[in-house]
Amino acid sequence: MTDPLPAYAVASAQGCRIRLSDGRELVDGMSSWWCAIHGYNVPALNEAAAAQLGRMAHVMFGGLTHAPAVELARRLIGLVPQGLDRVFFCDSGSVSVEVAIKMALQFWSAQGRPERTRLLSIRGGYHGDTFGAMSVCDPVNGMHERFTAVLPRHLFADRPKSRYGEPLAARDIESFARLIRAHEGELAAVILEPIVQGAGGMWFYSADYLREVAALCRRHDVLLIADEIATGFGRTGRLFACEHAGITPDILCLGKALTGGYLSLAATLATERVARGVSADGGVLMHGPTFMANPLACAVAARSIDLLITSPWQERVAAIEARLRAGLAPLAPHPDVADVRVLGAIGVVETREPVRVAELQRRFVDRGVWIRPFGRLVYLMPPYVICASELDQLTGAMVEVLSETR
Ligand code: PMP
Repeated sequence: MTDPLPAYAVASAQGCRIRLSDGRELVDGMSSWWCAIHGYNVPALNEAAAAQLGRMAHVMFGGLTHAPAVELARRLIGLVPQGLDRVFFCDSGSVSVEVAIKMALQFWSAQGRPERTRLLSIRGGYHGDTFGAMSVCDPVNGMHERFTAVLPRHLFADRPKSRYGEPLAARDIESFARLIRAHEGELAAVILEPIVQGAGGMWFYSADYLREVAALCRRHDVLLIADEIATGFGRTGRLFACEHAGITPDILCLGKALTGGYLSLAATLATERVARGVSADGGVLMHGPTFMANPLACAVAARSIDLLITSPWQERVAAIEARLRAGLAPLAPHPDVADVRVLGAIGVVETREPVRVAELQRRFVDRGVWIRPFGRLVYLMPPYVICASELDQLTGAMVEVLSETR
């Protein structure tokens, strides 16, 4: 890069604090892009990694299998919405989206419907940085735009305006309903982020919309892929965001917090119908990455799940939600602020104009907090183990910095 934003050197991280190499300590408001839900340097996760390291760091997952993968798959099946009992492990969130898309395409081609290759998504979505994932990100505000010439052309319904907690305004589903009706014969799947659209705009939408989408997918026999890479493992106040609407997708993508933020690992889960469909012509899923089901990552992920479900995570997330609401409320009337919204352990301040990231970041670091804004969004997504005073430090810094940068 010719003119990069400043980067701060990190020496270590512990609990909810990141220590810079110059000795300064920052309260973490980001969970390292949503993944470090238990904070950093977590004894139980360190122990799981060390124990697995003594057995094997890695072994190929073709023709071989191992306990860490089997145990993790068992845990996931027990946790996710019922019916998703087939698990494919891969390297990262973006790759799990690629795998989900491949599952859907292979499902239809194996049933003699090779023309069903298109995907339907909603505007304002974000699904990752690889080409298949990019092709279903928001076509305007995603990076998508720069690569339009080489991306497959998919379909995008309007973003639902009805907010989380509100009933669905009837016209909100019209665009989606029209597109699925008009294109059902060529659609392989619908892909969306349930309830919370993350990097595409941090928008929380009505659970009724998700319910309607799931019903329309069933009616038109189109597969539904839920991308819970950002929302999975409790972030929205439910273990999985699909639970807000009581739906089970055909395919589910998980990543980020899967390993508690320790290692890169993702999973694509599917129903038995999808799994059987993919193999209907005798084939196997056409994907086999080198580090598939990496034992080290699987062992840490299994321990991270145990840590989560044996912790009072629901109370913790509810307490974070209440404190974020109270802490960010003073910004709502600010003339430069367009909207303040909170759901689970996610607090968002949307500004009217794009923020000056480098300047804001410096001011946050000066106040001892780590907050990384983008575009018109300044948001908090702390580890679930954050304490009240640390949380107040984060919201206090947001209020101060955003008030003074008028
Ligand atoms: N889907 C969603 C909803 C995401 O938030 C992200 C990451 N920001 C991805 C997919 C891509 O995951 P990864 O960065 O691990 O490739």
